[in-house]
Amino acid sequence: MHITLKKRVLHLRSPLVTAHGSTTERHVIEISVQEGNFCGYGEASPLPGFGLESFQEAETALNNWAQNPEQLPTSPSALSGAATALEYLTFAKRGDSLPPASIAVQALVGASETSDVEAHVIQAIDAGYPAVKLKVAAAATGVDIERIRVAANLTNEKVLLRLDANGGWSPNEASQVLSAVADEEIDLVEEPTQDPSNWRAISTQTGIEIGADEHLSGSLQIDHILELEAAHTFVLKPSVLGGPSFTRELASRAAEHNIRVLISSFLDGPIALRAARDLALDLAPHEIHGLGTAALFVDELPEDVRPVNGRIFRQ
Ligand SMILES: [Mg+2]
Repeated sequence: MHITLKKRVLHLRSPLVTAHGSTTERHVIEISVQEGNFCGYGEASPLPGFGLESFQEAETALNNWAQNPEQLPTSPSALSGAATALEYLTFAKRGDSLPPASIAVQALVGASETSDVEAHVIQAIDAGYPAVKLKVAAAATGVDIERIRVAANLTNEKVLLRLDANGGWSPNEASQVLSAVADEEIDLVEEPTQDPSNWRAISTQTGIEIGADEHLSGSLQIDHILELEAAHTFVLKPSVLGGPSFTRELASRAAEHNIRVLISSFLDGPIALRAARDLALDLAPHEIHGLGTAALFVDELPEDVRPVNGRIFRQ
């Protein structure tokens, strides 16, 4: 088996501001594994601040794996990319092909200024997205309340509005903001605070459902969330969870607990987006997934991951 690694940089149209900081570009390692005439592709692109390895660590881990393919990388991004490439290689060797299909995706809005939030939400609705996810908890609570209200006024009864706090609120801030907007139609809020033991009370108090995302990266944390009944939705990111098979395992655990599953990209490049799209089609074909992120890049990503009318298409 021959492993090739190639680095590339993708540039965001405008900085994405989350509770973990501001992101303007993505450094990606594209992986190809070849065996005879068969090839599989994967991608690793750790993002600072999300509890992953650094880019250099991922690169070192993948270089070691390229020298010694028997020894899979252990750090999350590198492992996810390697496992994805290997799964697609196996698939290619079997001669299987996946049928054409499409999946609904949401638009991601991370603008800080309320006027930009308004403009971006209008754009998303006009472009046909069935859901908008707004990043919150990177501004003062008063500003966030205003940002959410402006977004909700536009999305109400038309498309779903989702919020993502990336654990950036204290329990007080979370209940302050979410109580103020509890009358709006909000599909879910991801990771309202750092500690999942707050989440159930926040949801009971505000009637807004909770999504777990960053907390799904370790098995102990997952057990803890299930025990607390802290989340109604699991947002699964195959590119940091260890690849397709770990994602499937986690999805079936979620199903056992009646928890909805959404698949999300991690501001991924085209290869990881494609793999996430295939998993979304496999695991939750009727949900709206966090896979509309190709539109956020200046770089033109391939057609089969670029949203058209709020969907991406497997050709
Ligand atoms: Mg999230």
